Amino acid sequence: MSRRLQARYLTKKETELLKKELLKHQEEISNKSKRVDLSTSPDDLADEADLASSDMAKGMEARQRNREILYLKKVIKALERVEEGSFGRCEACDMPIGFGRLKARPTAECCINCKEEQEKHENTSVHKTQHKSLGRSITNARF
Ligand SMILES: [Zn+2]
Repeated sequence: MSRRLQARYLTKKETELLKKELLKHQEEISNKSKRVDLSTSPDDLADEADLASSDMAKGMEARQRNREILYLKKVIKALERVEEGSFGRCEACDMPIGFGRLKARPTAECCINCKEEQEKHENTSVHKTQHKSLGRSITNARF
């Protein structure tokens, strides 16, 4: 008997719904990015005194923008997968991710089982490196 939480594949209707959601996110981020671009150009004309503070703001803006671009990439990738017909399936194990999880996070690439597995892995590897290698090798043959 499988202990895994068995989610089912998405129906056409559910896929459409999530696709709309993804498109909305895509549009939102694109609009925001455009606004940022327009507002940053006049800063080049700022005088010396203003530069220091505006650099810091730019740094923060750049970080925020990076996050947005990263997310946008995920959104685009998810939309590509909708077109391919592979959307809603886990990248790692090919099992359904589940509508509930995708509704909360339309860009989710892994099912909850794989995600948990990954996080466990991340946690343990961080832990192990902090404690240095005690000669016992990490059993991560899976990756
Ligand atoms: Zn999986």
